[in-house]
Parts: sequence; C-alpha cells; structure tokens
Amino acid sequence: MSHNKRKKTFNSITELEQNLGNTLNLEENRSFKTKIPKRFIELASTIHLDDPLMKQVLPDVRELSGGNDLDPVNEHRLVNKGLIRKYKGRALLIVTEACPMHCRYCFRREFPYEGNQMNTDNLNRAIRTIKSDKSIIEIILSGGDPLSLSDDKLDHLITRINKLDHIQTLRIHSRYPIADPQRVNSSLLAALKKFTRTIVFVFHINHPNEIDDELIDAALKLKNNNIHLLNQSVLLKGINDNAITLKKLSLKLFDIGINPYYLHLLDEVKGASHFKVETNEAVDIHKQLKGLVSGYLVPKLVKEIVGESSKVTIS
Ligand SMILES: *Cc1c(COP(=O)(O)O)cnc(C)c1O
Ligand code: SF4
Repeated sequence: MSHNKRKKTFNSITELEQNLGNTLNLEENRSFKTKIPKRFIELASTIHLDDPLMKQVLPDVRELSGGNDLDPVNEHRLVNKGLIRKYKGRALLIVTEACPMHCRYCFRREFPYEGNQMNTDNLNRAIRTIKSDKSIIEIILSGGDPLSLSDDKLDHLITRINKLDHIQTLRIHSRYPIADPQRVNSSLLAALKKFTRTIVFVFHINHPNEIDDELIDAALKLKNNNIHLLNQSVLLKGINDNAITLKKLSLKLFDIGINPYYLHLLDEVKGASHFKVETNEAVDIHKQLKGLVSGYLVPKLVKEIVGESSKVTIS
C-alpha cells in the first residue's frame, strides 16, 4: 500500500490532548471509540463541540443517554454474511468494518460486523447470489468505509464484480476522501478502473468546511477518471441544520463536480438523539434552501423507513 506513514488519526482524546498540549474536558465513550482524522483538527476553527467539524467527531456526554434503538434501519436482520438485499435492483456489500473516522451520529455503530466479514467464503457466496439474480444491476460497496480496504483487495474485488455482466453500475459510498484526501491515489484509481462500466462515487460530506483544496484535488482525480460524483449529507442538529450552510455546501460541491443527492434525516441510533432535527423543522429548512438555489442544487430530503424497499422522500 502506498499510504504514507504520517500519523493521520487520533485514536483517543488523551492522544489528541497530548498533541494539542491542553485538556479538552471531554468524556471518552467506551462503547464507540474516538477516531478523529488529523485533517479535521486542521480544518476546524476551534477544537470544541461548538465547531461543526468537531461536533461530528468529538464524544459528547449526551451519547450515554437518549435513544435505545440499536438498529434503526432494521438491517441487522436483513444482512446475510455481508450481503444486504433490501433495495430492488441493488445489492449492498459490507466489505469492511473499518472507517477512517468515527462519526458520532453513525447509524451502523452497532452493526453486527462479526458475522459479516467479507472473507473469501462470504465473498464467493455473495458473488454466487448476485450472479444468479439478473434483477440486480447495481452493486453498492459499503461498510465501514470501503476505501479502508487495501488497493490490492479492492482491485481483486472489483475485478470479480466486473465479470458479472448484468452489473451495470458499481457504487461506492465513502467518507475516506474527507478524512484523508490522499487516499485517492493512482493505485486506487487503477483498482477502480477494473470496473469497465459506470462507477458512481457517493461522498458523505455534511458541512462546507470539510471541503478544501486537498479534497477538491481528490474529487477532480475521480472525475477525470469518468466517475460520477454525488453527495449525501445527514441533516445534523448544530452542524448543518440551516439553509445558509446547506446552500454553501451545495454551491461548493457543484463547483467541484459533485452533485447534491440526498439530505438524510437522522437514523436515530442509540446515543445519537442529540443530533436529531425534527421532521417539520427539516421540511422547513429544505423549503428555505429551495428558495435560495437552483433546483439542481437541492438534495432530496429523505428518510429510511423500516420495511420500505427504498428511501422515502419527505415533503
Ligand atoms: C439508501 C441507501 C442506499 C441505497 O441508495 P439509493 O440511492 O436510494 O439507491 C445504499 N446504501 C445506504 C447506506 C443507504 O442508506
Ligand atoms: S464513516 Fe460512515 S460507517 Fe464509518 S463511522 Fe462514519 S458514518 Fe459510520
């Protein structure tokens, strides 16, 4: 792997405090570990829960209370050895449990990764299943973050997927470029090229401050390789729950070739309730955004509803 050795994440508050040379007065959450990209520290205006980037990664005492749902989207029962077939025409592969950062609102923080490792057996099984079901035309790589896999592993996986003739589209959902834009290097691009039909890359950017020159560079590299770029955000209280911030985000995204796609209502997993924006408020913010920008800059406001075979558009 060509990842360089420079330390790229802080894996505890203590580690972060040592680096900063001051104390932060934060309570470490033992059940969902701290993992903060160094880049987020560099981009933040202040290392405090008030900052829209820090709020996404610093543990908050409110995580220890509020909400009990471990599986708000009901996928623990649907996942079968790393393969999720919940959406028509699409198959979702959980290819890794690793992430370059731990987002405090993550709906998959309680996901049963143990039984769902993408080992050789499970991968063979998933490929067999997909091969025999011609109604599946898109494979979605998910996780964890699929770009946590080494380029060799991705190369192998994508080469196998490419052999499935009925798969027209390969989609990758990732937050890696936001945590570490240098992950988008030439060997990753070479691995992605193993898929010879359409590739869609869905960024998960929540706030305009996540976008800097390094990220722009990463997006351009993907774009120049004919990859379609989309973005989905989660509507998060105190982070992006106002039309002005969302307007800035949409403009910045579009400017670098990323189309705003979804604005997601929070999947209310245990410990994340303090990020919740009420539906009526969300609808109001979304409506304001529509009044501020061109239609193509307005992401669809959606919610995952248990039992539905696709996301539900809220209006
Ligand atoms: C909604 C969702 C999908 C399916 O996305 P569509 O764009 O609606 O096809 C895939 N993965 C995750 C994690 C999702 O939340
Ligand atoms: S990168 Fe995605 S899967 Fe990983 S912690 Fe963040 S939201 Fe969850």
